[in-house]
Amino acid sequence: MTELKFDLIEASSVTEWHDTADVVVIGCGVAGACAAIEAGDLGADVVIIERASGGGGASATSAGIFYLGGGTPVQQAAGFEDSAENMYRFLMTSTLAPDPQIVKRFCDDSLAHFHWLEAQGVPFERSYYEDKTVIPPGNYCLCSTGNEHGWPYREVATPVPRGHKVAGGDLEAGSVAMKHLIERCEQLNVRTRFDHRVISLVKDSADNIVGVSAVSFGEQMYIRARGGVIISAGGFSFNPDMVANYAPQLPSSAVALGIPNNDGDAIGLGISAGAALSAMNGVIATASFYPPGKLIKGIVVNRSGRRFVNEDAYHGRTADFLMGQADASAFLILDAETFEYSENPELNNNLIDGWETIEDMEAALKLPAGSLVDTLNEYNRFASDGEDPLFHKNNKWVQPLDKPPYAAFDISYDKLSYMFLTLGGVKADCEAQVINQHGTPISGLYAAGACVPTVPQDGKGYASGLSLGPGSYYGRIAGRNAASAIQN
Ligand SMILES: Cc1cc2nc3c(=O)[nH]c(=O)nc-3n(C[C@H](O)[C@H](O)[C@H](O)COP(=O)(O)OP(=O)(O)OC[C@H]3O[C@@H](n4cnc5c(N)ncnc54)[C@H](O)[C@@H]3O)c2cc1C
Repeated sequence: MTELKFDLIEASSVTEWHDTADVVVIGCGVAGACAAIEAGDLGADVVIIERASGGGGASATSAGIFYLGGGTPVQQAAGFEDSAENMYRFLMTSTLAPDPQIVKRFCDDSLAHFHWLEAQGVPFERSYYEDKTVIPPGNYCLCSTGNEHGWPYREVATPVPRGHKVAGGDLEAGSVAMKHLIERCEQLNVRTRFDHRVISLVKDSADNIVGVSAVSFGEQMYIRARGGVIISAGGFSFNPDMVANYAPQLPSSAVALGIPNNDGDAIGLGISAGAALSAMNGVIATASFYPPGKLIKGIVVNRSGRRFVNEDAYHGRTADFLMGQADASAFLILDAETFEYSENPELNNNLIDGWETIEDMEAALKLPAGSLVDTLNEYNRFASDGEDPLFHKNNKWVQPLDKPPYAAFDISYDKLSYMFLTLGGVKADCEAQVINQHGTPISGLYAAGACVPTVPQDGKGYASGLSLGPGSYYGRIAGRNAASAIQN
């Protein structure tokens, strides 16, 4: 599937507007729903154009973790002190190429955004899951979902957990969030046109975006927007050609996460209007080897027998470093004291073997002679003092690996199902206005969600919740600004 070409239609060529709204929202995932609620709350007449037969998008299939901080009631209940400034320092350091205004606004308003989500009915339990995890089980809410405790971030900002998982949906808590957000849209009389795929934006003679063209069951129609059009149609994980083109570093064995409609329409529509693109090579890939956290006490080595990442990194960061290793290939090395089976059953199928000596393991893994012996000798020398001067793994996870038998799991991309999401898309500013190639806002066009790289831009800087958090927040900004444009 190649990158789709979308035409930009001249309003003067539209012979009939089939519908008119103050705000036209493209896509009904978390960003679109939040945009619609915010605009609806301001009294705007809003229509959501959604290609699927119902709302939800990838957001409804997600784990429902929102990255929020600044001292939320859940953080407080768990005894954590956080501030917008602390959150900002962390995100500015961990994000690849942060836009300070975008990050600052998200952090400054994060606490208020938490309250707003609760006010829409999205439930968050006052509970904290302490163990290292990918998705906290059951209704547990707060958990560490990023690299806050990792080096160098823990030296820049006080590490606190900011992953807030919605209660009531366990592994698919995103469906609970979307149920409440869509119900809220209904209360506000937000109109929906399901089974409508937006295929073009419409502009007037002054280059303002004034509407869209959509196709529904073969019938093409035009929908006019008085205040603005919001693109919130998701990323492009399900467009293999775009992924290969923009993110060639991603091993081809990686499997797309999300829904088939995340195939790049949002980006194609943005391009047609002259939008600049940003962070298009950004992906978050993952096949976590933990939980249990105990496995983090092992070391990860590449085909040269060398470490390349602090093993306590967020699983997406580890996966990002791993894709840069030869053959995107690596082993998790454990000794008798650190060995445990993973909660990822696929990983357990990749237990290679156990060996009495490191030399035997090195030979069996076909690593260069002496490489693994050297790596473990060096690691153990410092680990006996709880230190890891090379990669600064937190001393909580550092202990010598010197109790035979030793074991290795293959964590290579071609051995595990690494799943990925795209992070790149159209460039937007902190007002969620789409920016053109000259750095100027495109009048009447806003964007939010997975089609906009707001905060996270690569897997090394990602934390779970950094899609739903900024996506929902900047969706609101887009909705507010598009609705205000009509009032003005
Ligand atoms: C299994 C899974 C777990 C995840 N867990 C988390 C998590 O816990 N925390 C987190 O932050 N992120 C998570 N993510 C990522 C996150 O869910 C997405 O990045 C986010 O939901 C994207 O929201 P969105 O509103 O931008 O897009 P979507 O929710 O995908 O919504 C976009 C909508 O646009 C529609 N659309 C597409 N093209 C068109 C068109 N041309 N015309 C009209 N409509 C169109 C689509 O049908 C879709 O409904 C997860 C993702 C997956 C798949």
